[in-house]
Amino acid sequence: MSKDITESGCATFLAEVWLLLDGECDEATQNRVEAHMHACADCLSVYGVEEKVKLLLSTKCGPESAPAGLRERLQVEIRRTVTRVEYERGE
Ligand SMILES: [Zn+2]
Repeated sequence: MSKDITESGCATFLAEVWLLLDGECDEATQNRVEAHMHACADCLSVYGVEEKVKLLLSTKCGPESAPAGLRERLQVEIRRTVTRVEYERGE
């Protein structure tokens, strides 16, 4: 697996997490997000969003609605991560 493919997958992953936050909780998107989390060490250790995304998948996309504040906290986290990635790539 090349680094480029991993980075590209991470961008897609973050975009699809954003879709889940926007209520686009279709099964295909959930499956891709879960598969990427299982396969990608970067998103687990660097981005650190695994726990929040798992919570999102098990709540918002499940029978229960998301706890208040989870959506906002995860959006802040993703926005910070994406901003950092763009900044690092722009150096
Ligand atoms: Zn990733």
